[in-house]
Amino acid sequence: MDTFPDFKVSAEELADLARWAYRKGWAPGTSTNYSVRLPDAAVPAVCAITSTGVDKEIIEPSDVLAVDRDGRPVNVHGGKPSAETWLHLMLYETVAAGAVLHTHSLPAALLSRLAADQGQLTLGGWELLKGLNGIATHACEVMLPIFPNSQDMRALAAQIKPRLRDAESCHGFLLAGHGLYAWGKDLREAKRHLEVFEFLLECEREVRSHGHASSAGSEHSPGR
Ligand SMILES: [Zn+2]
Repeated sequence: MDTFPDFKVSAEELADLARWAYRKGWAPGTSTNYSVRLPDAAVPAVCAITSTGVDKEIIEPSDVLAVDRDGRPVNVHGGKPSAETWLHLMLYETVAAGAVLHTHSLPAALLSRLAADQGQLTLGGWELLKGLNGIATHACEVMLPIFPNSQDMRALAAQIKPRLRDAESCHGFLLAGHGLYAWGKDLREAKRHLEVFEFLLECEREVRSHGHASSAGSEHSPGR
C-alpha cells in the first residue's frame, strides 16, 4: 500500500490540506482528521486518512495511513488511526463521499453547543451558500444537523448513519461542542464545502454576537 500510486498522491494531498487547515486556525492541539476514498483496486483499503495525535502544522505524507472497512491500518507506515475513523468510514458507506474533512474551528465548536438543543443549525440568506453542490441561490435555507458528542465513535457513527440516510442533500454535520464534518464527491469539492461551512459559521457567530438569534429566515420574517 505504501507504494500504491493513488495512496501516495492522496497522502501528499491530505498532508497539504491538513497544514492549510492548521493555518486557518481550524486544527488546534493536534486535533482533526482528513481522508480520501481510495479506488476499488486498493482493496482491502477503503480510504487514506491522517493519523491520530499528529500536529497538523507539521504533518507529512508519512503521517497518513490506509485503513480497511473495520478501521484497521493496512500499510506499514502512517501511525495509528483516530477513533473518528469510524465516522469517516460511515460517511463513505452512507453518503457516497469521495473525501471527508473534519475540523475543530472555534465557530463550529461554539455554535454546535449553543444550538445543540435544536438538533440543527439553519444557514439562510448567505451568497456563499451557492458554494454548496446543488444550491443556486442565496434565498434558501440549508440545515446543518447537530449530533451530541461522544467518546464512543463507533456507536456514534451507528447513531448518525440512519439520520444521514434520511437527509435530503447534506454536505456536512456538527458534533456538539466538538467540530464540523464536511464531505464532497472528491477532495476538491469537500474542501470547497468545508470552506463554505466554516465561512458561514463565522457569519452566524457574528450575527449572534450582535444580539440576533440567527440570520436564517430573516428575509421571510423581517421583524425578527
Ligand atoms: Zn474531532
